[in-house]
Amino acid sequence: MRRLGVFGGSFDPIHYGHLAVAEAVRVDFALDQVLFVPAAQQPLKASHHTSAADRRAMVAAAIADNPNFVLCELELERAGPSYTVDTLLSLHQLEPTAQFWFVLGADALSSLPRWHLIEQLAQLTRFLVVQRPGASIDVAAATAGVAALHGRIDVCAAPALDISATELRQRVEQGRSVRYLLPDPVHAYIVTHHLYQPMQGQPAQADL
Ligand code: ATP
Repeated sequence: MRRLGVFGGSFDPIHYGHLAVAEAVRVDFALDQVLFVPAAQQPLKASHHTSAADRRAMVAAAIADNPNFVLCELELERAGPSYTVDTLLSLHQLEPTAQFWFVLGADALSSLPRWHLIEQLAQLTRFLVVQRPGASIDVAAATAGVAALHGRIDVCAAPALDISATELRQRVEQGRSVRYLLPDPVHAYIVTHHLYQPMQGQPAQADL
């Protein structure tokens, strides 16, 4: 029976915080592979800062050298909000005998009870919560109102790298360096495609 991690997110851009988490959960929970699932439209987030095509390309570039990491385009191919429950239903159809662990950072845990059709989702996957600087992990509090989540959440002591996509976007916009915070091919993609540049008419911090 295949054991698969499912790592959903904006990946706007993907960075070493994501990759360190994916590798840690893969090894600690003996997962065969981790599927990276860029969202088309995240239900609980404002719109993305780059196109789906750019975010897809950055994820592909970031994981190209790791056969245990796989790009999953289910959400990019689906219209409408990217509900995790729909993704897990599709994954079960594609891999009927696999077991799934949905990976999420500690900051996302408190919103879990509000996810679309959470009772059904909890039947389709277990959850793997990883530490993240600045966010504590209180599984009991997060699951208090949703009986279906009881016993379905594991915690993984992944390396807690203090990197966020928000901070990386801001650094690029300000003309500051993001090198060594994300893989070189992702860095090259951002530079080549002029991503996260200041809006026209607004000078970068470095120009002020
Ligand atoms: P943003 O700053 O734009 O909100 P992000 O860096 O949180 O982005 P997402 O793509 O939204 O990245 O995150 C996808 C998943 O990865 C989420 O579950 C998030 O909690 C987790 N995650 C992101 N960065 C880290 C990190 N440094 N350590 C642990 N988990 C992380």
